[in-house]
Formats: sequence, structure tokens, C-alpha cells
Amino acid sequence: MNVPLLDLKAQYAELRGEIEPILKEVCESQYFILGPRVLEFEAQIADYCGVGHGIGASSGTDAILVALMALEVGPGDAVITTPYTFFATAGCIARTGATPVFADIDPQTYNLSPVAVAELIENWSETYPNLTPKVLMPVHLYGQMADMDPLCALAEQHGLAVIEDACQAIGAEYPSAAGTRKAGAMGRAGAFSFFPSKNLGGFGDGGMVVVNDDAFADRLRYLRNHGANPKYYHGMIGGNFRLDALQAAVLSVKLQRLEQWHAGRRENAARYDRLFADSAVVTPEAVYADSGVLNAHIYNQYIVRVPDRDRVRIAMNEAGVGCEVYYPVPLHVQECFAYLGYREGDFPVSEKAARETLALPIYPELTDEMQEHVAKTLVDALGK
Ligand SMILES: *Cc1c(COP(=O)(O)O)cnc(C)c1O
Repeated sequence: MNVPLLDLKAQYAELRGEIEPILKEVCESQYFILGPRVLEFEAQIADYCGVGHGIGASSGTDAILVALMALEVGPGDAVITTPYTFFATAGCIARTGATPVFADIDPQTYNLSPVAVAELIENWSETYPNLTPKVLMPVHLYGQMADMDPLCALAEQHGLAVIEDACQAIGAEYPSAAGTRKAGAMGRAGAFSFFPSKNLGGFGDGGMVVVNDDAFADRLRYLRNHGANPKYYHGMIGGNFRLDALQAAVLSVKLQRLEQWHAGRRENAARYDRLFADSAVVTPEAVYADSGVLNAHIYNQYIVRVPDRDRVRIAMNEAGVGCEVYYPVPLHVQECFAYLGYREGDFPVSEKAARETLALPIYPELTDEMQEHVAKTLVDALGK
């Protein structure tokens, strides 16, 4: 039996009848950039996340970039974030001219550690005398939110704006002291990606920024369209970060299924947890589940830790089971960030995670038999 890491054809087979007529409608209208479909989808996402505004963007990367641009982050500024994330998080920071400054992660959740951030800020003037900390950018990795209450408190205390990289976590929930909050809704801005492999994925690239503040939302809308306000008058330098109507149309249909897909992933995660109970496989922790929030973890990825990961991964792939490493090289040791001056050993928790973690198939269409096969293949590979 072959089990791919992700099978989007199974999802499409179920939605074809709903999506194809809407695609045809957009084609007949020939209204492809922004427009009514995008406005409708932006309102749906804002409503889903419990925020004031959604501003569609061309990708998750561009959503992060435009949010940083809207805060006028640039040379001399520092953005504090995690080195254990997809490249875009820190890539966008560097593209604004600002400096990514890393703090290590929590070993259980793989998310930015509030303790590490507090320590970093405490020693700021000795470590980074020439940089002004301006933004804190937690990443809600794999579909579970970072520990936002202490992170937001630190940001507040030190005058940092919070931008959430929520690209993997649309719909994930956090038990804040102020009540349950959705990913993207706790910071000044939140960024989502609709890359096809995310829980809500389009037929190509797409993204969105969510915010509460009306004036900030307007600023983001202008910046995603070259800063034009009105058309052909440019008070700010923006870019082309617009969302396509075809993507918005597809995503509006898929959004109706998102809660059901989250539930399917949650059930699959629980099944793996049982299958691995007596093995050497370290299963992921949904740390907020006990607080009673429904989407404590949306399992964009189901991440295990295993000994001898690289050998195990090859054995799994050879046996026809898809698995992947997210991410093999933490950002502080990426070649393009050598100028930041970090070394191997600076963030040991991130480095250990990069050596030990493995993503298993978790998409909602997996059958029990497929999961049993994945689990058996992994346990067998470990035993060798
Ligand atoms: C997917 C992702 C992004 C970038 O999104 P794109 O839509 O691919 O540009 C950024 N950050 C994280 C954590 C992601 O997983």
C-alpha cells in the first residue's frame, strides 16, 4: 500500500461539482483581480477569525511582507522571531531592510518560547546596541498557536507590535485569559497562507492579512496595490500583493468545509497517538486541549520525533509512505543569513528539533487502514 504525505486529488473529487461552476462564473465575468469575489472572501475570513478586516494577498509571504511594510519596519529595526519556521518568516523581515533576531523555541510545541524572548529582551542593549526592537513575530507552527498571552504581555511591556505568522494555523484556537482567541486575531496583524498544502488551500498561491484596526486595514489595502490612493496617485511605495478572484472563489467554497477538515485531522491525530502509544515514537502534544478549546491544534502537520530520523525517513519513503522533514536547517544557520553572525549551537532546542522531527500523512481523507499502515511502517523502520 502506498500512502502519500498529502493527497489533494481526494479532496478535489469531493468538491468538483461545487467548484467548477464557480470557476466558470469567474471566467465568464472576466473579473480576475480583487473585485466582488475577493471582497466576499475577505469578509468571510474576517468573520471566521473574529476580526474587523481581511485583506487578501497574493501569498502568505506577501501577507507577512505587506504587514511589516505597513508598520514601516526598516533598516535599524529588529523583528524578534523563531529560527525554526519556514523561510518566509525571516525572509520577509530581511527584505524590509530590518534585522531578524532569533529566540529559541519551546521543545514541546516547537513555538517561540516566551522565556527565551524575555531573556533576549533583558540583555538587548548589550547584545544588539545598534538595533531597535520593533516587532515580535510568533509563528503558530504546524497548526498550534504559540503561547500568546505571555508573548503579547512582553510585547506590550516593551512597545513591540505583534505580527502573527499564522500561515499554518488558520482556525487554530488559544485559551487566552481574555477568552478563546483564533490564530491571527491576537496581534496587530495576522498573516495566512492559502498555499495548496495548508488546511485551507487554493488552486495556486494566495494569502490574507487580518487586522482589527480600520485605518491600518486601509493602509494595508493601499500597500498591496502599489500604495495607490486614489488610482495613479501614490502616497506610499507598496507592491503588487493582490489576491485573484479565481483563488477567492475556490477558497470561499473550501472555507465551508474547513471545520469538518480540522475535525478529520484531529481524529486522525488521535488515532496515531493510540497507534504509537507503546513505541519509541514521540507524538505531538496539543497543549491547549485540556483548556477545552476545540481547535487546540489543527494539525497542518502531524510531527513526531524519532531516533535516527534520516535513516527512518528513507526507509519510510522506500516502503511507499510519504513523510517529510519540516525543517532540516534552522534559519540562523542558513547560508543567506550568515551575515547575522549566528553559529551552530546558538539555538539548541531548534537544532535538536531539526534533527529529530518527521511529518506523517494527516490529511482528513486518510483511511484507518492507511494510518495503520503508516504506523506499522514507522515502527518497523525504528526496529531495524
Ligand atoms: C506557508 C508558510 C508561509 C508562506 O506562505 P506562502 O503562501 O507559501 O507564501 C510563511 N510562513 C509559514 C510558517 C508557512 O508555513
